[in-house]
Amino acid sequence: MQVPAPIEYERATSIDHALGLLERLGEESRVIAGGHSLLPMMKLRLANPEYLVDLGDLHDELGYITHERTGRNDGQSAGVVRIGALTRHRELLESELLAELFPIFRDAESVIADPPVRNRGTLGGALCQADPSEDLSSVCTTLGASCVIRSRRGERVVSMEEFHRGPYETAVGQAEILTEVRIPVRRGGSSAYAKVDRRAGDWAVVAAGAAIWLTGADDGSTISDARVGLAAVGPNTTGIPEISEALRGRRPDEDAIDLAAEIAARSCSPVTDARGSADYKRHLAGELTRRTLRVAAARAAGRAVPDGVLRWR
Ligand SMILES: Cc1cc2nc3c(=O)[nH]c(=O)nc-3n(C[C@H](O)[C@H](O)[C@H](O)COP(=O)(O)OP(=O)(O)OC[C@H]3O[C@@H](n4cnc5c(N)ncnc54)[C@H](O)[C@@H]3O)c2cc1C
Repeated sequence: MQVPAPIEYERATSIDHALGLLERLGEESRVIAGGHSLLPMMKLRLANPEYLVDLGDLHDELGYITHERTGRNDGQSAGVVRIGALTRHRELLESELLAELFPIFRDAESVIADPPVRNRGTLGGALCQADPSEDLSSVCTTLGASCVIRSRRGERVVSMEEFHRGPYETAVGQAEILTEVRIPVRRGGSSAYAKVDRRAGDWAVVAAGAAIWLTGADDGSTISDARVGLAAVGPNTTGIPEISEALRGRRPDEDAIDLAAEIAARSCSPVTDARGSADYKRHLAGELTRRTLRVAAARAAGRAVPDGVLRWR
C-alpha cells in the first residue's frame, strides 16, 4: 500500500499553536517535521494519524545551533550547545561550530541518507522516530545530550537514556513537542563516528560513536571520561556505561581501546537479519568502537587524523 489514508492537515504558526492543536485534536493527531520517516510509515499504513500538525514553518524558531558559554565555571565545563529540534541534517553537516566542538556530527551526517533526506529531515524527527538503527540518537547518546520537551504546562528536560523508552517509543507525550537538544561542552574532549552500511547512505548494519576527554598533555595524558554509543545492535541506540567506568583514569593507549572494544562487543545485543548475523554485528560493534575511540583520542590530543580513516569502504 503506497498511498496514505486521508488526513486533516494544519500548519502550525508557533510552538504554542502546535501544542494547542495537539491538545485539542487528541490521540489521533501527530506532528510532522521533515516527513522523511513519518510519510513512508503512513504510506505503508504503519502509522495512521487522522490529523497532521506540520512544524515545518517553525524552522526559523526551532532551527538553530548555538554555543552558550555560561554555566558551571569549574575548569571542565565550557558551556552548552543548544540545537533546535527543527535543525536539519544538512545544517548539522555544515555547521562549523559543531565540527569544531563535536566532530562526531560531521562524521555521522556524512553517512546519513542522501541530500534530499538531509535537506528536509530534522534532528527532532530523527530522535523522536527512535529507530534502533538511527544515527543521531547514537551521536546524542555518546555526547551525553539531554532533550527539552515542551507542553502547554511547561518544559521538562530528560537525558537520552530517559528519552528513549523502546523501539519507536520516546518520553514525548501525545500533546508534547521536542523543542531542543542540549549538549554539555567539556574541555579537553573530542569525538568520532563510524558506520558500516550496505550501500552509501543506507541504514547502519552497525554504527558506533565515541567521545573521550583527556587531562594532561601528550605523553602524560589520562582519560578523565569516555563514552560510547552504538546503533543497530539492540532495541535502542545503546550507551555503554561499563566502558566509561573501565576507561576513566587510564592512559588513552591501545590496551585501553582494546578493552573498550571487547566490552562493546560483549555488551550489545544484536539480532541476525538481512543486514548480517548477530556474530558479525558483534564483531563490528567491537571494531567500530576501537576505530572511533582511536580517532576521538587523536583529535582530543590535537593529532592529525587522515581523511577517510573512519570510512568503511
Ligand atoms: C531514504 C532514506 C534514508 C535514510 N537513511 C538514514 C540513515 O542512514 N541514518 C539515519 O539515522 N536515518 C536515516 N533516515 C531517516 C531520517 O534521517 C530521519 O528519520 C528523518 O530525517 C526524521 O526526521 P523528519 O524531520 O523527517 O521526521 P518526521 O518524519 O517528520 O517525523 C518522525 C517522527 O517524529 C515525530 N516528530 C518529528 N518532530 C518532532 C518533534 N519536534 N517533537 C515531537 N515529535 C516529533 C513525528 O510525529 C514522527 O513520529 C533515512 C530516511 C530515508 C527516507
